Amino acid sequence: MALPKSKKSFPVKKPSASASGDGAKARTPSRGRRSLYTPAEVREIFRRFSVQRPEPKGELDYVNAFTLLIAVVLSAQATDAGVNKATKPLFAVADTPQKMLALGEAKVGDYIRTIGLWRNKAKNVIALSKALIDDHAGKVPEDRDELVKLPGVGRKTANVVLNVAFGQHTMAVDTHIFRIGNRIGLAPGKTPEQVEQGLLKVIPAEYMRHAHHWLILHGRYVCKARKPDCPACVIADICKSTEKTTDMPARLVPIAPLEDSARLTLI
Ligand code: SF4
Repeated sequence: MALPKSKKSFPVKKPSASASGDGAKARTPSRGRRSLYTPAEVREIFRRFSVQRPEPKGELDYVNAFTLLIAVVLSAQATDAGVNKATKPLFAVADTPQKMLALGEAKVGDYIRTIGLWRNKAKNVIALSKALIDDHAGKVPEDRDELVKLPGVGRKTANVVLNVAFGQHTMAVDTHIFRIGNRIGLAPGKTPEQVEQGLLKVIPAEYMRHAHHWLILHGRYVCKARKPDCPACVIADICKSTEKTTDMPARLVPIAPLEDSARLTLI
């Protein structure tokens, strides 16, 4: 993807609402408020994210739609690194619902014992595998209504699978996306679903394929929960959060997917 031709400057508007999803002084527009950004500003935000990370990837390891679904189910209240450590040997022996079911709950539990809530998750993994075999011919359904009927699968998990495995334009709102939607007023909402709907409304279609990953990575490494790293932020001139500490955007260059090199390149 081409580098930006020019550094267009975006005036910073001062919206009036105040509150914050993270408890600081930042404004969080109340429920039902629209995005604080014009369509041109939203497009520019995602254009910059697309230059930074042309092919963003999630940090969970998987080998097919089924293992992605399992990895996302296991990742609730666990770190991606911790899940990857457990699933590497698990997926080596069970990468289909049939193999997972044959493995059985006790053995699945042995593999995922290091992950929080592992007993309940092992139960769900087996029940989920059985439901896929019984109701979907062993395939992961490409439909949210069907996905959320599966044991241990909620709306966020379904949206991740639909987006990552099937390329659908969904928005899985996690803690980072919820914070950014409210902190900078991109898609204010009191619930993850309100933020999801707001983001689906404002993000241009051509950026929807990767928007979920861009926002998560931006929240994880730059617009962090406790203290946003505004000097490292490529949208600092567009951002309308009262928490931001600079109007000067960071240099816009493609960055490597690994965190360490990303941090070095950003600064
Ligand atoms: S300028 Fe600061 S508050 Fe705004 S998006 Fe960037 S990191 Fe977040």
